[in-house]
Amino acid sequence: MLTRVKMFFIILREIIILSVMYGFYVLYLTGMNDQNDRPIEEGAISKDTVIELLKSEGDDLERLYARADGVRAEHMGDEVYVRGIIEFSNLCANDCLYCGIRASNLLVNRYTMGIDEIMGTVRSFERTGQTTAVLQSGETPGLDDEEIGRLIRAIKYETSLAVTLSVGNRSREVYRFWKECGMDRYLIRFETSDRQLFARLHPDCSFDERIGCLHILKELGVQAGSGFMIGLPGERLETLADNILLCRELDLDMIGIGPYIPHPDTPLGNEPNAYADNEEIFYKAVSALRIVNPDAHIPATTAFDAVFPGIGRNLVLTRGANIFMPNNTPIEHRKDYLLYPGKPCIDENADQCVACVMMRIESIGRTMGTGPGHSLKKYNKRIQ
Ligand code: SAH
Repeated sequence: MLTRVKMFFIILREIIILSVMYGFYVLYLTGMNDQNDRPIEEGAISKDTVIELLKSEGDDLERLYARADGVRAEHMGDEVYVRGIIEFSNLCANDCLYCGIRASNLLVNRYTMGIDEIMGTVRSFERTGQTTAVLQSGETPGLDDEEIGRLIRAIKYETSLAVTLSVGNRSREVYRFWKECGMDRYLIRFETSDRQLFARLHPDCSFDERIGCLHILKELGVQAGSGFMIGLPGERLETLADNILLCRELDLDMIGIGPYIPHPDTPLGNEPNAYADNEEIFYKAVSALRIVNPDAHIPATTAFDAVFPGIGRNLVLTRGANIFMPNNTPIEHRKDYLLYPGKPCIDENADQCVACVMMRIESIGRTMGTGPGHSLKKYNKRIQ
């Protein structure tokens, strides 16, 4: 009898021990489980987690894309805002080692559009459903600061468009002046968070100066956009994770990222993209970016179409992005604003580009955004 009772307790003990061990095992598995199943912990995403997201493969990869699309839908909605870009001048004083319009590239046919020509293009925007004019150029006053101010005023006076500028490093005074003229937003990518790599690629500008510009813009109440290239020569997966986390740290309103594409007429012309044999990482980067920055506007950038012709930007829109930026540069200038080779649509006019964009947005079951599509962060801050 005694042995039976003893046996019973021994078995019971074994059962309890095994149950506890099984419980720990299940907990362990859940912990190890795909990062994509975890809820978004605001502010708590570690570098290791980002790297894990970037390494997703197979089912995990599908889950990563679905999760990014879900975060986009929840925080930004289904509207795709269409921002028309005009590359109004390719004059540049800088010699960024990767860029096709760098000062030392003597093969470039330089141009600057006049204010009237730019206004002629901008006036067509509202008719085509574009609610923001993005004005981009190289980094020297093709138009001087005063002229750019006049241009901003003219756009704000004649249209209901939001105005975004992307003309590089300027002083606080100049940014303030443009803000007073009506500038809503500014795009200035930090290009890479790796200071050494930044220094190697930018002989004319320091990382701190570039980040300083972003801080000034934010202090002035300008909606700030930044971002980086994916796969600069010398970059590692850690760099990419740091880039994504820096976007979060900077609390950006807009984040534009796209693959680095070697331009043959630059010093980096022979150095391939760091992920040349793993191009899926370009999409993974967008999805991770969305998960880490839930309420930033993220465009599907043109460089994706250069790497994946005809489908790149569509896929990016279904993997985290919510903005499309069709090229509205007049057709005669497009071939002269080649930051990288293979830029799509250089022989299409603005109307063709916009029509194509509308079709692309419809084809993925989304709608075109109405209204300016300002930063949701600013909006949230205003209504608090
Ligand atoms: N002068 C402005 C605009 C620069 S061009 C400024 O300095 O902000 C816009 C962006 O094109 C750059 O910020 C860079 O990220 C990207 N770009 C330049 N060369 C590139 C290349 N070879 N491949 C991919 N993107 C490139």
